Amino acid sequence: MNLATNRVPTTPTVPAAPTMPTALTVSAAPTTSRLRSIGDGTVASVASTPYRLFEVAVRRTRRLSPSFLRVTVTGPDLDRFADNGFDQRFKLVLPLPGVGFDHLGGGADWYQRWRQLPDHLRNPVRTYTVRAVRPERREVDVDVVLHGDNGPVSQWASRAVPDDVVAFVGPDAWYPGDHGGVGFRPHPGAEFLLAGDETAVPATTSILECLPADARGEVLLEVPHAADVLPVEHPPGVRVTWLPRNGGAHGERLIPAVRETAVRLVAATPRRPRQRLRDIDVDTDLLWEVPATATDGLYAWLAGEAGVIKTLRRYLVTDLGVDRRSVAFMGYWRLGRGHPL
Ligand SMILES: Cc1cc2nc3c(=O)[nH]c(=O)nc-3n(C[C@H](O)[C@H](O)[C@H](O)COP(=O)(O)OP(=O)(O)OC[C@H]3O[C@@H](n4cnc5c(N)ncnc54)[C@H](O)[C@@H]3O)c2cc1C
Repeated sequence: MNLATNRVPTTPTVPAAPTMPTALTVSAAPTTSRLRSIGDGTVASVASTPYRLFEVAVRRTRRLSPSFLRVTVTGPDLDRFADNGFDQRFKLVLPLPGVGFDHLGGGADWYQRWRQLPDHLRNPVRTYTVRAVRPERREVDVDVVLHGDNGPVSQWASRAVPDDVVAFVGPDAWYPGDHGGVGFRPHPGAEFLLAGDETAVPATTSILECLPADARGEVLLEVPHAADVLPVEHPPGVRVTWLPRNGGAHGERLIPAVRETAVRLVAATPRRPRQRLRDIDVDTDLLWEVPATATDGLYAWLAGEAGVIKTLRRYLVTDLGVDRRSVAFMGYWRLGRGHPL
């Protein structure tokens, strides 16, 4: 598969080098810009950091299904939010009552300073996927999984109304290099397996929309209910299978489906001998590895609840011999634990 897409990104077509999801090498204040001479001598403004903080307001919300809420935000400088497509991630920052975002200040050390703040001054920050960007309308969509009032973002989203203020730390279109934050990086021509739970649905559907017409692969998505199956556009060579849990445990349908599908896919691709994997404690460590350059054979992209993703990765790499350099695995959240960011 060639990553030339049917979507025109504002930044590099090939996804940028992976960065850890918690590494916020971003600037909270409007990014320092400088003037630079380009091409024919035109002077343009460029940003010096790949990410910047966009203060935005809810324009509208739309319930897509029992579990998914689309939140559309707008902001004066959202025409500067880069549209990289694929699984581009960003940070959603909630305001603190009576404080907002002003105390976060600016500078590239935003994250370090946020960490040093006392608890009561630390805005809740969580990672989400950019679902759509419409720079001409200064709009960005995010599809939020509603999982009750036990998490600040889920709680916020379920009550969000127009003009509610929030902040996005997202890719700055004025930055001339790679932004990072895209995990889907198959090698050219790869047949792929995308597997995830409801939190990976926004990323997966966005990836599918970016694929070239000759893409080939299998997509397995576990969602809470049958009514959470969303319409999704995809190339003819890609099969999308929805796996409603209908009250079952996380992974109950995804794990057997991945096993069954992967056995079939790897039968036709090169395998490697049994590979040893460092054991990762999903309750204390971040489950995250995104190969920068995938190798031959099956390419797998796995995202969702960390315990489930760990099981899937072990199965693919250790049991089936899929090259670990072709397996991107991302613990998007951990059952029973607040996300660190
Ligand atoms: C790169 C990346 C991209 C992501 N993209 C999206 C996205 O587009 N849409 C999306 O909805 N999520 C996405 N997530 C997952 C999201 O960041 C987490 O679900 C996050 O924990 C939600 O924050 P919260 O404030 O609602 O709950 P938290 O405060 O983080 O957690 C509170 C409690 O809720 C539980 N919990 C968290 N998420 C869920 C869930 N989905 N279902 C059931 N229980 C849960 C936790 O185990 C904990 O017990 C993404 C994560 C990453 C790392």
